[in-house]
Amino acid sequence: MRVPALDLKAQYATIRDEIEPVLLELCASQGFVLGPEVDALEREIAAYVGAPHAIGCASGTDAIVLALRALGVGPGDEVVTTPFTFFATAGAIALVGARPVFADIEPSSFNLDPARCEAALGPRTRAIVAVDLFGQCADMRAILEIARRRRVPVVEDAAQSLGAEHRGARAGAMTLTTFSFYPSKNLGGFGDGGMITTADDEQARVLRQLRVHGESSRYVHERLGQNSRLDALQAAVLRIKLRHLDEWTAARQERAARYTESIARPGLRDVVRLPRVSEHATRHVYNQYTVRVPDREGLRAALAERGVGSAVYYPIPLHLQPCFRDLGYAAGDFPESERAAGEVLSLPLYPELTAEQQAYVVDCIASYYGAG
Ligand SMILES: *Cc1c(COP(=O)(O)O)cnc(C)c1O
Repeated sequence: MRVPALDLKAQYATIRDEIEPVLLELCASQGFVLGPEVDALEREIAAYVGAPHAIGCASGTDAIVLALRALGVGPGDEVVTTPFTFFATAGAIALVGARPVFADIEPSSFNLDPARCEAALGPRTRAIVAVDLFGQCADMRAILEIARRRRVPVVEDAAQSLGAEHRGARAGAMTLTTFSFYPSKNLGGFGDGGMITTADDEQARVLRQLRVHGESSRYVHERLGQNSRLDALQAAVLRIKLRHLDEWTAARQERAARYTESIARPGLRDVVRLPRVSEHATRHVYNQYTVRVPDREGLRAALAERGVGSAVYYPIPLHLQPCFRDLGYAAGDFPESERAAGEVLSLPLYPELTAEQQAYVVDCIASYYGAG
């Protein structure tokens, strides 16, 4: 049996008949950049998350860059974020010229620890970027409360968490929020794409300018922007996929529950530490099912040998990345993030994963630890 870490072809097979005619129409129209498909997707995502505005852009990374620019973050400013996330979160902060200031995570959720986030705020802090890792919101109520008290705006990086809910509110409805449509995300396009949601009319207006070179009316550039537009082709694909997202999310949740149940058996439950759902996470959308294991590299190799894919998100916390050497951090600065980086393993999880495949994955893990 083969169980790839990700199986995009399996998903495509289920929607091919819906997608192909739309792509052909788009080819006939030759309208590729922004346009009616993008407008429609923006309205649909805004409605889906419960935000007044959604602004499409070229990637999830650009979404963070544009959000920070809309907040006026730039050189000399500090932005507090987590070191246990995909590189782009901190990369975007550095790209706008600001300095990433890291604060450690809660070990149970892998998300930014609100108390540590508050302790990292200083006189130069111009924003907080919280990340909803693996499909579960950060403790947004706590973080937004701290931010309100300290008068610091918050960007929520929900690249992995479209549809996730925190105390009943969707990611995207609580603060300036960024999404990615990279193919491996829960709503993935046929290439790169991103979106920003906001409740603030002025922020939305600025974001719409920033993604087209700061243009306010034809050939008038009110501010310095960039080229970061969403393609019509991506929007057309994403609109079709969005109609399936809730059913796919339910399938992810079902498969996550199945892993949890079968890994909790005697002999295995003391070795493999299961992901925890925070009590405030009212909807976990499981972009990843991430466990902690001993001897991770040995297990990964054994799984690979038996045809089971897996992934490590993320092996190097961002404060230890070579490009951030100049920030002056050292090993030991963020022990929870460093421990997580050494222990985490994401198991195959997608709506098309079969019960047989899952049973095989768990059997392979059990036999590696002599628990099978
Ligand atoms: C994927 C991802 C991004 C970047 O999105 P791209 O569309 O790949 O640029 C940013 N943050 C997190 C947490 C991500 O998972």
